[in-house]
Amino acid sequence: MFQIGQKVICIETAYNNTTVRGKIYTIVGMNECCEVNLYLEGINHHYSKCWCGVQLKGSPNSGQRFKPLDDNWPSTVLDLIIEQVEAE
Ligand SMILES: [Zn+2]
Repeated sequence: MFQIGQKVICIETAYNNTTVRGKIYTIVGMNECCEVNLYLEGINHHYSKCWCGVQLKGSPNSGQRFKPLDDNWPSTVLDLIIEQVEAE
């Protein structure tokens, strides 16, 4: 469901605020361990361990905290997504 070069919207702020809910990021790489991990343009939080303890390359972000974005979506759709996330 995720692709390199794709834009994603953050749906859950990272514990250290490196990625913030409602903000848009670009995928520059991926890797899979227990879950899909995303490498995001300009994001380096200096943490590279999967929760299972496996050391991953660089500083990937849990794919569970992001949703793929469609460039053609109007901003109203984005607002709806953010509202839904906040309601959950
Ligand atoms: Zn793992």
